[in-house]
Amino acid sequence: MKITLAHGSGGKITHELIKDVFFRHLGNDILKKAEDSGVADARPGKMAVTTDSFVVKPVFFPGGDIGKLAVCGTVNDLAVTGASPKYITAGFIIEEGFSLEDLEKIVRSMAEWALKAGVEVIAGDTKVVEKGEADGIFINTSGVGFFEGASELSAGNIRPGDKVIITGTMGDHGIAVLSRRKGLDFQSDIKSDCAPLAGMLADVTAAGGVKFMRDPTRGGLATTLNEITRGTELGIVIEEEKAPVSGPVRSACELLGLDPLYVANEGKAVIVAGKGSAENIIAVLRRHEYGKDASVIGEVTREAGGRVCLRTRYGTARIIDMMASEQLPRIC
Ligand code: MG
Repeated sequence: MKITLAHGSGGKITHELIKDVFFRHLGNDILKKAEDSGVADARPGKMAVTTDSFVVKPVFFPGGDIGKLAVCGTVNDLAVTGASPKYITAGFIIEEGFSLEDLEKIVRSMAEWALKAGVEVIAGDTKVVEKGEADGIFINTSGVGFFEGASELSAGNIRPGDKVIITGTMGDHGIAVLSRRKGLDFQSDIKSDCAPLAGMLADVTAAGGVKFMRDPTRGGLATTLNEITRGTELGIVIEEEKAPVSGPVRSACELLGLDPLYVANEGKAVIVAGKGSAENIIAVLRRHEYGKDASVIGEVTREAGGRVCLRTRYGTARIIDMMASEQLPRIC
């Protein structure tokens, strides 16, 4: 079965799609009321809100799919601010002719990962556009999280001497997606690292000493570190040999002429923490499935103000700039 314009018309066929696919997999008491807005319980204090659109190509890739990515991406953006993700919304823009079976697979995957991440989908929307007016399926997800006693993290807390930690290997997501790109597909066992990090990062913040966190998605680790130092007096120096990159990702990057430090991740976090807390944070991370390869990769300095400097394994140093332009379009 294929998606037709009638599925997005708002009429009878739309209602059948909502009941048979969306409610069937994502349904909960709030969503199933089918009101114009999902109404849910709030918490006292501050909340975090985020939104992101997902256009990854292809929609199924090793280690994930656009639905898993949409849930994890939004959950992780909330979690890195120190919030506990609670609710998400999902808006689907589907091209006429897209497979109904694939849509159901994607929605089922969203349900599976929303459950694992501890979030509920409380509002949604579906639009269908004519063939050629979109490419398969695009998903927008917004999310809300609450701080529940935890404090909000901010780059303003970072000081010279703080340690820079990453929670695992770099570049897996970008390379996994590229490995299935038409015209580029190459043999590899590389899987996307796409994963919900909220549980692990809550344990990390509870351990104490965390100043700032961010998920190094588009533009990779190099771009994220530059976002931290840009416009400040602070520099970051990282050691090349401490930044974990798996053997297969390293080989694929050499083949494709890419630097793994600029390749997207979808299940990793960069954590800046006080010097005295770094060791304990690494221990907490390594107890988690998604933090087994965590390591301290460098530190915040007064030198190299505003810039990120990489000390290579040969003892030389080079400036790592922000990515100039999108080297890998539609990776998320
Ligand atoms: Mg982010």
